[in-house]
Formats: sequence, C-alpha cells, structure tokens
Amino acid sequence: MREGSGTTSDSPLVLLSGGGGGARLAAGLSQSSAERPLLVVTNTGDDFEHCGLTICPDTDSVLYAVSKTIDRQRGWGRGEESWAVFGELKNLGGPDWFQLGDKDLALHLARAAMLSAGQGLASVTQALGYRLDVPSSVSVLPATESPVRTHVVTEQETMAFQEYFVAHRCAPVLHDVVYEGIDSASPAEQLRDALGHVGAAGTDIVLGPSNPFLSLAPILAIPGMQELLRHAARRVVAVSPIIGGQALKGPAGKIMSELGLDVSAEGWTRFMSEQYPGLVDVWVWDETDQALAGDLRSEGMDIRTTQTVMSDPSRARAFGDWLLGVCDSGH
Ligand code: GDP
Ligand code: CA
Repeated sequence: MREGSGTTSDSPLVLLSGGGGGARLAAGLSQSSAERPLLVVTNTGDDFEHCGLTICPDTDSVLYAVSKTIDRQRGWGRGEESWAVFGELKNLGGPDWFQLGDKDLALHLARAAMLSAGQGLASVTQALGYRLDVPSSVSVLPATESPVRTHVVTEQETMAFQEYFVAHRCAPVLHDVVYEGIDSASPAEQLRDALGHVGAAGTDIVLGPSNPFLSLAPILAIPGMQELLRHAARRVVAVSPIIGGQALKGPAGKIMSELGLDVSAEGWTRFMSEQYPGLVDVWVWDETDQALAGDLRSEGMDIRTTQTVMSDPSRARAFGDWLLGVCDSGH
C-alpha cells in the first residue's frame, strides 16, 4: 500500500470483475454518490466462439449492468428481451444450448462487424458501451485483447469452460483449471494507458466478489497484470464471494471444496493471500461472517465486514458507497 496524502479522487477506481457479483458491484459503484470515475476490468477467460460470433459473457454482463439494460431477474442478457431469432434457430436445427435473445444477438452482430473491420476488442467494447449509454464516468475494458480461454480439468476429461458451465451445469468434479493462451497474453493497451496515468498517489483497486478460479485468476494470471496493478495501487481491496460458508451463486464453493479448500470467508482469504502474496491490503467479508474474523485479525490481516449481498440496486449502491469509504479511510 502506498503511503502519502495525495488525492486519488480523479483517478478511476479500478474493479476486477466476472459477470455475476462483480457486475452488480460495478452497477452499484457507478451509481455511487461519490461520483468517482470507474474502470471495470473484465474477465475474458469465459469468451468463446459460437455461430461465428465472439461471445464475451462477463464483459457483456458488466456492460448491461452499468447501462441498466441487464435482465435483473436472470442476471445476464438484456431486459425486455425477445427471442424470435433464437426460436427460429432451434426450428432450423441450429445450436440451442447457448441462449441469445434478439437484442443480445444484435450486440454480438455489431461486435462481429467491428472486429472483422479490424478494431481491437477493447475499442469495440468501449464503442458498444457508448452506444448502450454507459455513463461517461464508467469505462469497461476486457483485461486482455489476446485470446485467453478457460478450460476445466475434470475427473473424466478436460473441457471448455462453457461446456462445463452451461452444458454440464458444473456437475463434473474439478481437478484443475487452465487458461489456454494466457502465457502469450498481455494486459489490454488501454488498461496499461489508464493505469499508467493514475499519478504518484496511486489509485484504489477492488477485486470484486467474483469466482477466484474462473473470473479473477484469468485476469491476474495474465503476464504483467499483477505488476501493473501493484504499481498503480494505493490500496487493493478484495470482496469475498463466500458468505456463510457458501457461494451466493455459481460454483465457487463447490470448486473450493473439490480443490481441498475450506469453504468459508476465512478459507477464501487464506487461499487468495497465498495465491497473490502481499497484493491485497483490505479484505471485505459479509457481516454474516463477522464472528470468524478473530484468527486472521490476530495474524494482522485487515478484515472489514458489512452487508455485501447486493440483492437490489439500492443495496449495490450502498455497498459501493461503503467500499469507496474504505478506499479513502486512512488517507
Ligand atoms: P460469473 O457470474 O459466472 O461470471 O461469476 P462471477 O465470478 O462474476 O461471480 C460469481 C460469484 O459472485 C459467486 O461466487 C457469488 O457468491 C458471488 N456473488 C454474487 N452476487 C454477490 C453479491 O451480491 N455479494 C457478494 N459478496 N458476492 C456475490
Ligand atoms: Ca463468467
């Protein structure tokens, strides 16, 4: 953590995010009364090719969340969606295992056109954000423009992330996760630029309540990414996706237990601090887990607790305000 009294209010708060809890937090922070610029760095490990289109599930969930166009019930895709193309695709014997609504499909066609015209993924994402009316104080950037594809190694076979997640509904027991292409990946140029301009005081970086193996690792394992973040950081704050001994949604808890980890906020904190030594300054747990914090606090870890469940936009905004307060405390 950097010492010093410089103000960071003009430098963007940087949020590392998957498509679930992180996207909700992105929406909350973008609505925060502090009006601090926000840069959301999205996981690209879930990206894949489908029907000739590049699908970026986490990036799109964040774009839809911060532009308030997301379907809040489902937690993915567009609200007020229609399914005419998908219905006809099924009639015609096309693939129906991955659902794309009409508006969602339009975004994918727009992305495909820009990519095939030679635009990079980061600039395409920014153009789509502009068209979706993402607030001008918010930037959404894929962590890298190089293809990184998460594969899970299960008892039976190694499979692509979407196959595990959508087709197998995360049922296979997981032994390992690999990020194909990551060794030759590098942080997106626009991200380097943004972090290179935060000034001497540094900025605050939040690791969202995202799956540590499937959302944060494919960002943090990009060569050069951790150095870039450490160099720019005034404070790094990580939010636990594990609440009351389980993940709110998705396979994070299941994967932790399959990898032999203790499924708790404490287990998550120990795993993250071993995986990324010295990266995180402040650990945020849900207040449900308050009673568990004693051991780690006595080891000198800075653990804060609050209500972290973002069940509706006002709770997400309140949590965003609280987090910005944590970032500023002590400076
Ligand atoms: P994805 O949706 O598959 O991209 O997965 P993410 O990695 O983005 O997010 C899933 C994780 O977010 C799960 O482990 C959830 O427990 C966590 N999560 C979802 N909503 C919330 C929330 O409101 N608060 C907190 N603290 N965690 C959440
Ligand atoms: Ca995801």
